[in-house]
Amino acid sequence: MEKLTLTIPKQKNIALIAHDGKKQELITWCEAHKEILNQHFLCGTGTTARMITDATNLPVKGYNSGPLGGDQQIGAKIVEGQIDLVIFFSDPLTAAPHDPDVKALLRIAQVYDIPIANNKASADFMITSPYLNSEYEHEVINFQENIRQRATSMKKE
Ligand code: PGA
Repeated sequence: MEKLTLTIPKQKNIALIAHDGKKQELITWCEAHKEILNQHFLCGTGTTARMITDATNLPVKGYNSGPLGGDQQIGAKIVEGQIDLVIFFSDPLTAAPHDPDVKALLRIAQVYDIPIANNKASADFMITSPYLNSEYEHEVINFQENIRQRATSMKKE
């Protein structure tokens, strides 16, 4: 499949999401890395975004709540190239009604080669990465070319 080189900018759009059982852990993590996070653009699912802003004063643009489509909104922003990094403290021990949306978000981040941390250790590695404060070039599927090839290959002779 043909690839396209895209650049993740120095100043990043970072999405923050935490399941209910992990919200305090993410808030504490945001507080600990407040100075760094403040240098980027932050967004998140509704309740997570609100709680981070209330606790830390960091500006976090809120989408809908996760179970009401917030994860899907963040997935769509990844597709549109408007999210560069995701910190998603998911809860592996609790069943969630929106599990399919969570899986879809993980999958689309993988498709678009977007860094996504789903626990604190991964988030710690990511926040201390030299790439966080520099541009990062990566290869993603050339979506226009992919459509052209698919349409051509399925055309009736
Ligand atoms: P919330 O959604 O931030 O609105 O709680 C997060 C989630 O459960 O995916």
